[in-house]
Amino acid sequence: MSHTNPPHPEERPKGASRRTQDESAVDRAVADDLAAAVRRGDRRALARAVTLVESTRPDHRRAAEALIAALLPATGGATRIGITGPPGAGKSTFIERFGLAGIARGHRIAVLAVDPGSQRGGGAILGDKTRMAELGRAPAAFIRPSSAGKQKGGVARRTREAILVCDAAGFDTVLVETVGAGQSETAVADMVDMFLLILPPAAGDELQGIKRGIIELADLVLVNKADGALLDHASRAAADYANALRLIRPAGPEWQATARAVSALTGSGIDAVWDDVARFRAALQATGAWDRRRAGQARAALWAEIGDALIERFRAAPAIATRLASVEHEVSAGTRTPAAAARLLLAAFLGGGEAG
Ligand code: GDP
Repeated sequence: MSHTNPPHPEERPKGASRRTQDESAVDRAVADDLAAAVRRGDRRALARAVTLVESTRPDHRRAAEALIAALLPATGGATRIGITGPPGAGKSTFIERFGLAGIARGHRIAVLAVDPGSQRGGGAILGDKTRMAELGRAPAAFIRPSSAGKQKGGVARRTREAILVCDAAGFDTVLVETVGAGQSETAVADMVDMFLLILPPAAGDELQGIKRGIIELADLVLVNKADGALLDHASRAAADYANALRLIRPAGPEWQATARAVSALTGSGIDAVWDDVARFRAALQATGAWDRRRAGQARAALWAEIGDALIERFRAAPAIATRLASVEHEVSAGTRTPAAAARLLLAAFLGGGEAG
């Protein structure tokens, strides 16, 4: 047996392409190890994997993509549920109660948060770990407070990938929480199977800070705090919402969005929500709508990624960077139309010379 081994890759001269190949091989090896640990249910690996997909560092991005590629075959089984509602409606109280009820039914539950960050002036959600203390201690649950930083861009991608990581780690239900202000609800609705809206027991016109369009996105509206002195109020509000939802054209014939009064405090109505989730999934799967919805979401995400990447390249291009401020100023001042300005900048970006 010969002892003359072929030169180790690291001993070879390091040209640019050589290094890139080595790096991607390392990325793949690290990703495969991490992916295997995630699939085994290793909690620290899971936390590391989510941190990796949330990172915007270019080398982390490459590793994250390799990780997701390795995990992808193990994904697709989890039910993804978006949860939104105005601050104070009881989202985190609900998630704790709903999560514990789910665990009692044999589910394994991951909770992710979409933090609109700068849009809300840094209002942290899930930041206070005591909010879901009991669920957080349950071995069948994984709670990930959002670490989304300043940048708005990429929040959707990070969350989509974190969902896949949790799915591959064997959580059959992934709850994605967001708050009821801004565009994050629409973004979340586009990456989940079912969208829950949690409202306080107040009539529609008393509701502050919740956009009408959000109600139309909901597959199920939960009027929370149906307990004590608020019980009647919550029940009436739920009946009103159920009536209003009947007037909205459903997304498909499989499911009519409805409203239900619940109490995250006492647990009343919470088991019925699990039944709703099961009925929803069964109804949509029976007609193929479940898979069609996911396929449509994946295509939309593809185009979002393409759009984000192009805009990033566009902004970074020297031909654009030098002109952007003045052209933007002209558009603001009304001395150049947005269409003409866009054509000018695009021509500069594509190297087509001066246009407009
Ligand atoms: P979030 O901002 O939507 O996450 O709301 P929280 O879960 O933090 O709840 C806001 C407040 O409402 C807290 O004081 C909770 O104790 C209270 N709360 C939440 N759920 C219920 C409920 O079902 N009944 C009552 N009476 N209070 C609730």
